[in-house]
Amino acid sequence: MGYKSDIEIAQECEMLPITQIAEKAGIDDKYLEQYGKYKAKIDYNLLKESDKKDGKLILVTAINPTPAGEGKTTTTVGLADGMQRLGKSAMVALREPSLGPVFGVKGGAAGGGYAQVVPMEDINLHFTGDFHAIGAANNLLAAMIDNHIFQGNALNIDPRKITWKRCVDMNDRQLRNVIDGLGGRTNGMPREDGYDITVASEIMAVLCLASDITDLKNRLSKMIIGYTYGKVSEQKPVTAGDLHAEGAMTALLKDALKPNLVQTLEHVPAIVHGGPFANIAHGCNSVTATKMAMKLADYAITEAGFGADLGAEKFLDIKCRMAGLHPNAVVIVATVRALKYNGGVAKADLNNENLEALEKGIPNLLRHVNTIKNVYKLPCVVAINAFPTDTKAELDLVEAKCKELGVNVALSEVWAKGGEGGLKLAEEVIRLCEEPNDFSYSYELDGSIEDKLNQIVQKVYGGKKVVLTANAQKQAKQLEALGFGNCPICVAKTQYSLTDDQTKLGAPTDFEITVRNLKVSAGAGFVVALTGEIMTMPGLPKVPAAERIDVDETGKITGLF
Ligand code: ADP
Ligand code: MG
Repeated sequence: MGYKSDIEIAQECEMLPITQIAEKAGIDDKYLEQYGKYKAKIDYNLLKESDKKDGKLILVTAINPTPAGEGKTTTTVGLADGMQRLGKSAMVALREPSLGPVFGVKGGAAGGGYAQVVPMEDINLHFTGDFHAIGAANNLLAAMIDNHIFQGNALNIDPRKITWKRCVDMNDRQLRNVIDGLGGRTNGMPREDGYDITVASEIMAVLCLASDITDLKNRLSKMIIGYTYGKVSEQKPVTAGDLHAEGAMTALLKDALKPNLVQTLEHVPAIVHGGPFANIAHGCNSVTATKMAMKLADYAITEAGFGADLGAEKFLDIKCRMAGLHPNAVVIVATVRALKYNGGVAKADLNNENLEALEKGIPNLLRHVNTIKNVYKLPCVVAINAFPTDTKAELDLVEAKCKELGVNVALSEVWAKGGEGGLKLAEEVIRLCEEPNDFSYSYELDGSIEDKLNQIVQKVYGGKKVVLTANAQKQAKQLEALGFGNCPICVAKTQYSLTDDQTKLGAPTDFEITVRNLKVSAGAGFVVALTGEIMTMPGLPKVPAAERIDVDETGKITGLF
């Protein structure tokens, strides 16, 4: 098509030494820990010791996406670059990409086109080792569980009811279900076990929600690893704290808790830190990263995974509530592609002009705008992320429709033009940040688990009500009895639809959401509501991206998108 690939653009960038980026961000040398020339960690003590007033907080979210992603990361980065061009001090806070999916279909996750964070190869591969540390802490706990059983099982752990899994940062379906401990008495207790991808480990969610080392340790010690022998009514949860594992785990994680500093293609300071799954966990970068960006810049721009029904909902109802954050504005990314997809166009035909389908998809966008404005009571703007395949007629139609309905809208061309293409969006966001707002959650914490789910379904998804299966009703009772009734809820559901059925696109009404399973992530501090089978260990596709990735004799990587 004649466009440069993301990695080609990234490799052309002349990065500034990370010390210069730190200086620009106002980070004192004593807080900077360099990881080579272009990466550094920032000591979290900066948060406690700085007396700068916090900057504004901006969330970037999206409509229900197509399977390719709609450019939230790209928009987040380009918006910060645009703000810099307007002379503002801005900073982004993004998630760290998981290693496994880089080799699958998704490819890199550091933005795209002329709106990226660099060094993109490092960010997408091992980066500063945070995920390895999380894997090590996760697997230390797993080893301590099985060793405890082997050494006599004083805690009376039922090996059939262990919920803690081992993990590895790879898309490896072969490991989803395994039997380990084989080989006779000296080699452990044989049991059914399994692996999750590292980002699905509860430790990832815990690290992202922890406010400091002490909080991290407390949360780790509360994580439930399984249950004791006995009838359901007699079973007791067993925690990492019962196994005395939290100290060693925290020791493994002490550096992983420090946010990572990199830069955008236009040398805006960027924090890339933490990356919990967006379904069984809350899908945002770490609280420390977000707070650090607010502490250092006047405008902190952050992203939440999937569409606004999942990502923004969890960002606002879970992360902001736990961390005491109050956002100032929300950007809702929409693409012509995703609107057409929501209007019923098949994935293969998304590149063809189709004004009718486009118009049919717009109610999906409006639903999300309505949620942000009227449920969460936050000012918002729609960013139309322009793709090379969009026609002028299509872009004009979306803009006209938004204006007609009184929705703030800005065309964003950051993918093609970098910060220059984000000026209009930046101006609008700066303006919105000055508007006072009455930020509210979609539900309060008191009330039953079912009540809270009903609020989410009705207010955020636009549905009729939640239905708990008999199994989920039993689990709700048990969780409430164990004292987890007042936790926020983390819904695991398809990202393609507002409903729990990925084929129901657009803006359906009058639907029910069926919750089949409820489980607590006691360390993270939320109850996960699963609406179907949720994959916590992805597989690779028929032709994995790994087959295209290579490195030459100078060490230059190719094929990483
Ligand atoms: P999200 O964060 O919503 O998942 P990303 O920003 O990671 O989306 O973008 C997903 C993919 O789409 C990336 O490969 C990116 O390069 C590409 N992309 C994003 N915006 C555009 C655009 N305007 N034109 C072409 N490709 C784009
Ligand atoms: Mg993204």
